[in-house]
Amino acid sequence: MAAQLNLILFGPPGAGKGTQAERLCDDFQLPFISTGDMLRGHVKDETDLGQKAKEYMDAGDLVPDELILAMVRERLLEDDARDGFILDGFPRNADQATALDEQLSDLGRRVTAALLIDVPDEEVIRRLSGRRVCTEAGHNYHIEFDPPKHDDVCDQDGSELIQRDDDKPEVIEHRLGVYHEKTQPLVEYYDEQGLMRRIDGTRAAADVHGHIRAVIATLRLEEDV
Ligand code: ADP
Ligand code: ADP
Repeated sequence: MAAQLNLILFGPPGAGKGTQAERLCDDFQLPFISTGDMLRGHVKDETDLGQKAKEYMDAGDLVPDELILAMVRERLLEDDARDGFILDGFPRNADQATALDEQLSDLGRRVTAALLIDVPDEEVIRRLSGRRVCTEAGHNYHIEFDPPKHDDVCDQDGSELIQRDDDKPEVIEHRLGVYHEKTQPLVEYYDEQGLMRRIDGTRAAADVHGHIRAVIATLRLEEDV
């Protein structure tokens, strides 16, 4: 069996995970699985899960594990994730990390690496407060760092650009607090297993992309040995 790349893209809200994912999908034949995007899809479609998740998302709190775990478990069993995946926004706490390890282990698989896009809080606040997303496919822009060609219109699909409800200042602060309390301890968890790779996320998006590509290329070589 060919080597698998079961990757986790890790970092605070606004670190640039979505921005990098758009680029990485073109580079590697790996499905990009964002729990945030999946949940926003459920909210938009007003599914049962979407209705349950919405209040937590609007408040910047984590959606309860029992809802998230079932959703991710099913997604990882889909055909396109057989040879690997890039996970964004999951795991977000210790129980989710354990659940992921257990599911992969049941399938005879394991996490290949966790890539941490490292960005300090001040920069997170600057990035999230200026973020605009397209209503059609969630493409990311920034009013200062990555403005669209035409105000409020997506360059890629022409749909309207909006500010996410959870990118309002008071919610941003709360989400950062949740990240530090619940998610950041996972850095140590993956570090201890020798799986954590750190990437300086403060550099320009193209540089961050180059670094991540190089890390993944190295991992692929190591896994093939
Ligand atoms: P995440 O998915 O981690 O929440 P995003 O990819 O949505 O983060 O990026 C958050 C905001 O920061 C967006 O407005 C995006 O355009 C901008 N951004 C992303 N990467 C960079 C970068 N390297 N430098 C400056 N701004 C960036
Ligand atoms: P960002 O990367 O910009 O922080 P996401 O798009 O990953 O945001 O997540 C948006 C919201 O969706 C989170 O604030 C949270 O309410 C919910 N969410 C996403 N992934 C998870 C998860 N793994 N566990 C719990 N809640 C989640």
